[in-house]
Amino acid sequence: MKAATYKLLVTGLVQGIGFRPFIYRLAMENHLFGCVENRNDGVVVMLNGTLERIEKFRTRILDHAPLASSVDSITINQIESIIFDSFYISQSESVSHHVTEISPDIAVCPDCISDMENQSHRINYPLINCTHCGPRFTIIRDLPYDRSHTTMSEFRMCDKCRSEYEEVMDRRFHAQPVACNRCGPVYRFEAGGEIIEEILGLLRRTGELLSGGALLAIKGTGGYHLVCNALNAHSVKKLRELKKRDGKPFAVMFRTIEEAKEYVVMNKMEEKLLNSWQRPIVLLTKKGEFTEGVADGLNTLGVMLPYMPFHHCLFKEIDIPALVMTSGNFSEEPILISDVAARNQFHEFVDGVISYNREIYNRIDDSVTAVIGDRTTVIRRARGFTPSPIRTRFHLEGILGTGAELSGSFCMGKAGNAIMSPYTGDLKNLETYDFYRESFDRFSRMFRFTPELVVSDLHPDYLSTRFAGELAGELQIPHIKAQHHHAHIAAGMLEAGVEGEVIGFSLDGTGLGSDGRGWGGEVMVTSYEEFHRLFHFEYMPLPGGDRAVQEPWRMGIAYLYQIYGEDLLHLRTPLNTAFNDAQVQQIIGLMDKEINAPGVSSAGRLFDAVAAITGLNFYSTYQAEGPMLLESAVDPSEAGSYSFEINGSLISFRPLIRKVVDDIHHGISAGNIAAKFHHALIDLMVHLSLEIKKSHGLNRVVLGGGTFQNRYLTKKVIHKLEIEGFQVYLPHEIPVNDQGISVGQLAIGAHHRNK
Ligand code: ZN
Ligand code: ZN
Ligand code: FE
Repeated sequence: MKAATYKLLVTGLVQGIGFRPFIYRLAMENHLFGCVENRNDGVVVMLNGTLERIEKFRTRILDHAPLASSVDSITINQIESIIFDSFYISQSESVSHHVTEISPDIAVCPDCISDMENQSHRINYPLINCTHCGPRFTIIRDLPYDRSHTTMSEFRMCDKCRSEYEEVMDRRFHAQPVACNRCGPVYRFEAGGEIIEEILGLLRRTGELLSGGALLAIKGTGGYHLVCNALNAHSVKKLRELKKRDGKPFAVMFRTIEEAKEYVVMNKMEEKLLNSWQRPIVLLTKKGEFTEGVADGLNTLGVMLPYMPFHHCLFKEIDIPALVMTSGNFSEEPILISDVAARNQFHEFVDGVISYNREIYNRIDDSVTAVIGDRTTVIRRARGFTPSPIRTRFHLEGILGTGAELSGSFCMGKAGNAIMSPYTGDLKNLETYDFYRESFDRFSRMFRFTPELVVSDLHPDYLSTRFAGELAGELQIPHIKAQHHHAHIAAGMLEAGVEGEVIGFSLDGTGLGSDGRGWGGEVMVTSYEEFHRLFHFEYMPLPGGDRAVQEPWRMGIAYLYQIYGEDLLHLRTPLNTAFNDAQVQQIIGLMDKEINAPGVSSAGRLFDAVAAITGLNFYSTYQAEGPMLLESAVDPSEAGSYSFEINGSLISFRPLIRKVVDDIHHGISAGNIAAKFHHALIDLMVHLSLEIKKSHGLNRVVLGGGTFQNRYLTKKVIHKLEIEGFQVYLPHEIPVNDQGISVGQLAIGAHHRNK
């Protein structure tokens, strides 16, 4: 075959992870001449050779690509002949509006950890990185990914770093944030008037403070953490008071997997997830009680491993095997990234602020994940995942999904990719909304995104819905609204690449239904285009509206009153013991007079009611506390179940609640009751799936909504449905909770546009 010049276009996640040097080394090994270049639309490789050799080269790229990369496609085209007498890496140039991907932040690699002990200019350098690891998304201002477009632009490389950066065979070849003790950003400790910048002194002081029970603010990859010794209940209590977070569990960073294993159980999949380059928080089952105040009442603990070089340095210095690391903010505001703001806001509450002088440009929280059965799921999609796209086979270009309210997010369609924003927190205050808007502006610019169609929730009061309306008005583009539970199922369908009709179980706290009422226990036959609500949970009054969400005891009374009427006063449940007749009468009054007691068909509220009746939770201090406590209470040795009633399209849990009360009267434990309750929901889903299979001939089930973060329920229902021959889909890249709504909206928008 004749030699010619070929152009290879590599698309996917191929920038910022040492891809060009990898191509260079591959070309050297194969004695090929040509060049490689980063472009907006991917990595372009030009090579002289026969088509046969070029195709072999293509295979080698696919087989040996760097760990954190992900190649979508490699196209080969013959071009006009160019004479090359070597192989080189050429300067990036902006060529088009088709943007390639931006790498998420990558945990420090083992080679860099060893360099911290061996490379003279990087001994203990706590911001060490290389082409395989280090900050990416958090420091990028624009594409293409070059140092001048990152927050490292203000640091001049020293000669040593420069020579590594330019040496193709070096691991830091074209590592944009490359730095060392001589030329890079540095850490700084501040407490009162005390300032330490020398790293060993800084680590020693930090260690002393943590061992003494102190609270510290430490700058992380995507924002500040508030940190204390996870094994010191007194420190944890102080931290909790500072965060104004009554019961919301804290995540814990363990020094090593082995030390974590003393406190939690983990299987191979969980271990792999903990150790992955994303280094997310993984929800793991506790072995026994952990330090009071960290995750009280829950059977799980959110665990992560060190991911910044500084974390490794710190754990070397201290005797403490575990640190609470919670996002640095007060109550529900976004995580702080500004050094000035951190100093101002934290200094009077903490015993020291530890920062470094490299700016965090893009804010991001730690991600939260869990293994359910044999599936890995993302619960909070952020660091390590953002902004990797979710690849689909649909045409999504120009569509924007603006998400819901709780666990906010937006999602942009670029070609076949769904690009999700990071988790922005609950869109209920101005600070969170500002973060959302700022992220939107930045994503639009970085990804060269121009909205052509915007899709929002039905709820008129969500900030995300209003934003959609404003944007549509401003740009004169269509705005459509997708029903919340339809979007939950569509998100799962999109990720699985499923088309046609499916059986959808959409179970969550709440979302506005197309009848104007609050939904959340929905069984629907769903396609992207439409949904048919075949069954739903019975509407139950929410006495006090939103207050009933914060106070599950009200939900308990609501259920009992619907079933027992005034006789509920004579029941002997923990709920009856905890609240006096006057309190109960007041709630009854709201329902009788129908004052602020709207009916909802919510699964979350059913969990709340059972958690309240069994005495597990009367007041909710964080979202889904009742359901989480109920799940944690499950006694797995209990095999029994409860019954439910189906009248037409209505699913009633009245018989179930009666049995719960009977069991309480017979002294059955909350653990057994919780297990039977979960089993009843599983039986219900299996029963309805079989019914719909009969009536509609459908065999595929998609699970959506926050209820499916319940590991016990989800694992079992998938298992049982699979035994019955159903194909069951649970999203794993997209959060099953409301953060995933924006993706479902995108899917609905795409199919709406096609019609
Ligand atoms: Zn590295
Ligand atoms: Zn240097
Ligand atoms: Fe939802």
